[in-house]
Amino acid sequence: MAELVFFSGTMDCGKSTLALQMDHNHRARGRRGLIFTRMDRAGASVLSSRLGLSTGAVEVQEDLDLWGVVVAQLTGGGAVDYVICDEAQFYTPAQVEQLARLVDELDIEVFAFGIMADFRTRLFPGSQRLVELADRTQVLQVAALCWCGARATHNARVVGGVMVVEGEQVVVGDTLTSADHDEDEVEYEVLCRRHHMRRMSSRAAQAAALSADVLPFDLDACPVPPPAVGLPAAP
Ligand SMILES: [Zn+2]
Repeated sequence: MAELVFFSGTMDCGKSTLALQMDHNHRARGRRGLIFTRMDRAGASVLSSRLGLSTGAVEVQEDLDLWGVVVAQLTGGGAVDYVICDEAQFYTPAQVEQLARLVDELDIEVFAFGIMADFRTRLFPGSQRLVELADRTQVLQVAALCWCGARATHNARVVGGVMVVEGEQVVVGDTLTSADHDEDEVEYEVLCRRHHMRRMSSRAAQAAALSADVLPFDLDACPVPPPAVGLPAAP
């Protein structure tokens, strides 16, 4: 019996790598699949992982009918045993419903991979619909880590070096992490909930650790990296 499975996690937790591995495993057993993605970091019509692997994929524009794509493939004589959907948080609720229909009416396995919530901690509409409809939702166990070492569960948006919690859910020209810090450059960082709620990105934490002022919260409950040099050691 085919299933709609939603694999969710933060950024940096290896979702795209797992999507590629899953495609490889099924292909190795002679099964035929279709891969969809939307706004991959490597550009349109590519599914790429941070580890450097990539493969071609169908780019999911907002008005693309996923049901129609699969049916066209089948009526053209192609076989589709499974469908892999990366960056599924960006799909519309209607597209997620098309995925459920592929499972129920055509008995095609659908594996969707996506981020659960945005930088404001609100569910992406596509992810919400997946949680509502999936046969199973699985939180990926390759945990990304916050700068404090705790499991990172939340995505933070950093604009010009400052963490923000308001703004458009998706910024056009969204870039992922990069080395330099321009004024309005948009970056993302994964944090634990404690530090997300406190707007404590790694840069803010570094600045706080270097400052002589006492931090305005309990250090035991919210550890920061030990100061590098120059401060007196604890007795
Ligand atoms: Zn943390």
